[in-house]
Amino acid sequence: MALERTLSIIKPDATRRNITGKVNAMLEEAGLRIVAQRRIWMRKHEAEAFYAVHKERPFFNDLVQFMTSGPVVVQVLEADDAVALNRRVMGATNPADADEGTIRHTFAESIEANSVHGSDSVENAAIEIGYFFSGTEIVG
Ligand code: ADP
Ligand code: MG
Repeated sequence: MALERTLSIIKPDATRRNITGKVNAMLEEAGLRIVAQRRIWMRKHEAEAFYAVHKERPFFNDLVQFMTSGPVVVQVLEADDAVALNRRVMGATNPADADEGTIRHTFAESIEANSVHGSDSVENAAIEIGYFFSGTEIVG
């Protein structure tokens, strides 16, 4: 196991319900350390670029609209095996399939408004972290 970093986003459905602290508590209880964090309101072109890998998917436009519908909290999480650990803590994309005790099972409203984003690989984590944070903003 290697010390890794992953990008997490607390999505607009969660900021709207004022549960960013509850989400952070679940991340921290799982052993993920929040080593950078910023609250932002993404512009359309920023969300489109962030989700560019999904641009051919039928839900792309709705997803961009949702992700720009309110503020989000972008954060860098650090732990041994952080990418996979965060995916386990998040739970399945569709909250109906998410295991009990996961963030999405606990908080998600729908397959779209599913409360959190997490990088899906170490390679993508590095790209996604670089999209939002410079090196000096990450304090491990
Ligand atoms: P994950 O966030 O679990 O990595 P994906 O990368 O496949 O999932 O999808 C990115 C985001 O797009 C999801 O978190 C969710 O907000 C949205 N999404 C995924 N699948 C659907 C769908 N079938 N309908 C609506 N929104 C979706
Ligand atoms: Mg994904």
